[in-house]
Amino acid sequence: MPADYHTHTPLCRHATGSPEEYIDAALAAGLSEYGISDHAPQVPEPFDDWRMRRDELSEYFAWVERARARAAGKLPVRIGLECDWLEGCDKWIGELESECRWDYLIGSVHYLGDWDFDNPKWLGRWAESDVEAVWMHYWQTYARMASSGLFDILAHPDLVKKFAHVPAGDLARFYEPAIDAIAAAGCVIELNTAGWHKPCEEAYPAAGFLELACSAGVPLVISSDAHAPNEVARDFHKAVAMAKAAGFRETVLFDQRRRSVEALQ
Ligand code: ZN
Ligand code: FE
Ligand code: FE
Ligand code: ZN
Repeated sequence: MPADYHTHTPLCRHATGSPEEYIDAALAAGLSEYGISDHAPQVPEPFDDWRMRRDELSEYFAWVERARARAAGKLPVRIGLECDWLEGCDKWIGELESECRWDYLIGSVHYLGDWDFDNPKWLGRWAESDVEAVWMHYWQTYARMASSGLFDILAHPDLVKKFAHVPAGDLARFYEPAIDAIAAAGCVIELNTAGWHKPCEEAYPAAGFLELACSAGVPLVISSDAHAPNEVARDFHKAVAMAKAAGFRETVLFDQRRRSVEALQ
């Protein structure tokens, strides 16, 4: 099984389980590597209620050390963060970079302006939104995140579909400019299996996006976005098959922000 680099810890306030439970699940799944990438602190604090605080980073490092102790001699454990792309965030990401020798940083678009659109508490706001306009805003934001060059991996590419709000017609008009930006910046994308368990009932990204990304030479990782131990490597067999069908033959590994590849199997 490929590596699973997008996983969470209880420090983000909406995940459960101990480091030992997550590692045992990773070992049982036969992952090549395990990576921890909890929701990064964000300033100004308090920013929202679904991330660790800055003064909890030391607890995060201790959590990762417990995971490493459990995995010792059996499974490499990498450390990263899932960072939020916000306009003007580069200074803050630079500060976070200096806190640790990260193996990778993941960039996510969860916010459009002040709206964390993937938060279930805003379903009412979605109901009164123009889906086409939200999608335009989302994909322009995603392309800007790619072009920033701040992140190694770009998370859940079409997260905007989470609650099954999808415009009519060929979605390539949204995908193509974003993929151009991702390819130009040399970023890796993830095939995130969590979407299969959300109202959209599709992996992030959809097959059409994945095929275009492969054609553009964008590298791939496969991620569960686990927020509980039983979600580690969830649906990885299905995801490997989907990635192969899109044309991918390998996935990327990270060690202190240096890349290597392993065959997709
Ligand atoms: Zn989360
Ligand atoms: Fe996310
Ligand atoms: Fe996540
Ligand atoms: Zn995520």
